[in-house]
Amino acid sequence: MCGIIGYIGKENPKEFLIEGLKKLEYRGYDSAGIALKNKTETQIIKSVGKISSLEEKVNNEKIIEANIGIAHTRWATHGIPSEVNAHPHKVGKITLVHNGIIENAKELKEELQKENVEFKTTTDTEVIAALMNYYYKDDVKAAIEKTIKRLKGSYALAIICDDCEKLYAIRCESPLILGVKEDGFFVTSDIGAIINHTNKYVLLGENEIVEMDYNNYKITKNGQEIKREINISDLKDKDNNLQGYEHYMMKEIMEEPVLVDNIIRKYKDNLDLLPDLKKYKHIHIVGCGSAYYAGMIGKYLFEDDGIKVEIDVASEYRYRNIIYEKDTLVILISQSGETADTIAAMRKANSNNADTLAIVNVETSTIARECTYKVLIEAGREVAVATTKAFILQVLIISLLSYKIKEDKKYLEDLVKIPQQLKVLLDKSGFYKKLADSIYKHEDVFFIGRRIDYAISMEGSLKLKEVSYIHSDSYQAGELKHGTISLINDGTIVFAIVTDEETHDKTISNLEEVISRGAHPIYVGTEECSYESSIIVPKVHKKLQPLLVVPTLQMIAYYVAYKRGCDIDKPKNLAKSVTVE
Ligand code: GLU
Repeated sequence: MCGIIGYIGKENPKEFLIEGLKKLEYRGYDSAGIALKNKTETQIIKSVGKISSLEEKVNNEKIIEANIGIAHTRWATHGIPSEVNAHPHKVGKITLVHNGIIENAKELKEELQKENVEFKTTTDTEVIAALMNYYYKDDVKAAIEKTIKRLKGSYALAIICDDCEKLYAIRCESPLILGVKEDGFFVTSDIGAIINHTNKYVLLGENEIVEMDYNNYKITKNGQEIKREINISDLKDKDNNLQGYEHYMMKEIMEEPVLVDNIIRKYKDNLDLLPDLKKYKHIHIVGCGSAYYAGMIGKYLFEDDGIKVEIDVASEYRYRNIIYEKDTLVILISQSGETADTIAAMRKANSNNADTLAIVNVETSTIARECTYKVLIEAGREVAVATTKAFILQVLIISLLSYKIKEDKKYLEDLVKIPQQLKVLLDKSGFYKKLADSIYKHEDVFFIGRRIDYAISMEGSLKLKEVSYIHSDSYQAGELKHGTISLINDGTIVFAIVTDEETHDKTISNLEEVISRGAHPIYVGTEECSYESSIIVPKVHKKLQPLLVVPTLQMIAYYVAYKRGCDIDKPKNLAKSVTVE
């Protein structure tokens, strides 16, 4: 969600900052801004909307000679997206950018107002700047330390001060790393924003302050210096390029066969690289959005393996009174590994002494670092806000974990065929386009399925509504007639996911029920059928079936959104990595 980039060094930061903001665009934002600083001046430029409009503004202004800069993409939590509310915020001598949310901003603001501090915006961030300026006498670090003691909530901050040629940064429950270049330093919430300039980075722990000048950096916490190793990222800039595709979503769907193949090669004959779930009597699965639906697939698989499974969305799990029984494993699924609610759920499980397993994409993320075990999905960078390849890889990892609980020959035989079968399915773009043509004018679409097919239909439905803005809902096929069937009209599109053998006939009966009420059915299954519209995928072991079905629904969502002229990679109101509650 939103992002930060800051630079101090030999060069003028302007280009780094604008380029970095463009690389951060995929995370979702509503406005953006930069601050440039030299010995005597600080220049701030902000804009609502796309980075390209900020860039235009920057190009039209006389830019100061500078060697320090901070920049921000905002996803508003306090106050409307507007130029005045956009970051950076400057109060007195302190200028800063902030990702996160300050929960006690109102109280702090009132306290400062009593001291005659004036506010120009309705943001929580301006309160941080005002408080820091209030505490600042001649030592920025001391002011930062005093300020964070007062803050409740999450923050990643990049800070500059009129009085010194330094850059400061600090984080708490919001990502931020330090990038090390031969002739300067970066701070950023996402290594992708600086990977063109350096692959060397240092992780920052919670509430550690990093202070940078032109030659050195120093990390401290409560006045104590902290030494941290420099890591090397293997992120390639190619992950940041469209490589000829019109949208990242399509590029990322098309990467699925190769990425799936890589994971299969890695684990097929080395199952010992994966944690053994057999020793657990209870599994809790927690995630948000698509990660939750990947977990739902896991629920059906692990239950079939004989383990008791509970599943919940992270924002509920963190506030429930959960009884942790002995031998409980809590699986946390998150692409970014920085999802705020999932982090809170993980910390709750850790503090209740349950073992935790992270299924994440980003190795340096909070969830990857704080879980008992981690399995990386190795998706590379996912830029499109709507997840595709990361979802498929989460499901693949879950499927392998389930296979490790209960090995079976047929699974292995089918597993190795998946990449090729997936490729063949994805190569039929003309077919999906045609089907999308028959859907894109509708305003309501339904998905039905039972058991694992229900989990698949939840993801199919979410993908469609995320990118195309068509209202879409998913129901357990047997549940539809308990209310929602009243919404079925002549021509209403109903996707029926019908791959589960045991419930196949039941779902078909439910499909017939809606057809008799006028619905236009789209059958998604493994057997040829007589329905006018259908998506047929090869039949494989049930633990692998979602890997062939979900990508076809991703293709439909893409082409429907394309036909409707939507902003496919950056759907409105959404953010890639949801780092606030
Ligand atoms: N809470 C801050 C605001 O609304 C920062 C949001 C963000 O992370 O971009 O301005």
